[in-house]
Amino acid sequence: MRVAVARETDAGEPRVAATPETVKKLVGLGAEVVVARGAGLGSGISDADYEAAGAKVADNVTKDADVVLRVRRPATADLKDYKKGALVIAIMDPYGHDAELKAMAAAGVIAFAMELMPRITRAQSMDVLSSQANLAGYRSVIDAAEEYGRALPMMMTAAGTVPAAKVFIMGVGVAGLQAIATARRLGAIVTATDVRPATKEQVESLGAKFLAVEDEEFKNAQTAGGYAKEMSREYQAKQAALVAEHIKKQDIVITTALIPGRPAPKLVNKDMVASMRDGSVIVDLAVERGGNVEGAKAGEVTRVGGVKIVGYLNVPGRLAASASALYAKNLLTFLETMIDKKEKKLAVNWDDELVKGTALTRDGAIIHPNFQPKSAA
Ligand code: NAD
Repeated sequence: MRVAVARETDAGEPRVAATPETVKKLVGLGAEVVVARGAGLGSGISDADYEAAGAKVADNVTKDADVVLRVRRPATADLKDYKKGALVIAIMDPYGHDAELKAMAAAGVIAFAMELMPRITRAQSMDVLSSQANLAGYRSVIDAAEEYGRALPMMMTAAGTVPAAKVFIMGVGVAGLQAIATARRLGAIVTATDVRPATKEQVESLGAKFLAVEDEEFKNAQTAGGYAKEMSREYQAKQAALVAEHIKKQDIVITTALIPGRPAPKLVNKDMVASMRDGSVIVDLAVERGGNVEGAKAGEVTRVGGVKIVGYLNVPGRLAASASALYAKNLLTFLETMIDKKEKKLAVNWDDELVKGTALTRDGAIIHPNFQPKSAA
């Protein structure tokens, strides 16, 4: 069983799919681990660190590998270097990338999309959306603090008092909850909003104040899967009115709102941005999915009047060492379920719901029900 750890080809990707800790565990499970030269540098891990953990380091690692661990989907041009039947495990970003999925099928690899992992208790330790969103939520507050020209905590000094910053978090999923906790630790006065009623108690338990239009629609806004529904126009208008009043008084706004399979909801319009005082900061964590904030630009910090709008891409990658450590552990835990520990070889159980939920391609075809070619639908 040969496990390869690839070097990421995307220039904006500093994370890596294995750490010395997970390499050691894989070796213990009977794997021969080969790490691409320099793969860990963006996360502060040297080739020597991997070698000390029991891996070999090489330039071309995928050719004979039975398993390839990656952060992102392999580039189509590189698939010729993958073995037929190899398991390729990564964040595959499958939506809207039909040609790339077809190419992986044609290359004969078995591609697993980690972001499709079912959110069930057994798979919590394999949930890359949570492990990475948690760090993004933390980093969003640090990025906001960096752009904000004032202190966050209240400080009473001989030279005068610095007031505590007012921070408003919009969208209280995994990222939003960590943003609330981080802003509180830094001493800010925190308020938060979401359309799912379950979040109210979570917000309050973190010592922040909850703000939302709590009507009948709100009471039913959570899907059975625990996600938000797309809200009606009427709800959105009421929500916008409430937010408009609140946002004027905020120093920092962090938006994290997403709806699975839909563009991110627009929550902050340009009039709301203009109503904020000069020096305020908005961080849009949803910018990769279309953005929650009007005027946010992917990959940039923009200035709209006196307000800065932060739209960094790959925010977990801005904490690459932590993000890699958690991501590598997510991959290891998933891969372990596909290894026969006695025989020390791969044994994929195709009936396992974790496998069924994440496998995109197999035997030359796209097998995931959500990504069947249109003509076959
Ligand atoms: P997400 O990234 O899909 O969305 C972020 C937040 O935006 C959500 O809280 C959502 O309700 C909110 N949102 C959507 N539209 C909005 C609007 N118009 N206004 C304000 N907020 C809006 O969410 P997530 O972080 O993936 O978490 C979704 C749910 O999944 C949560 O209930 C979370 O606790 C749950 N979860 C479960 C597991 C598990 O069981 N293994 C793991 C992680 C998360």
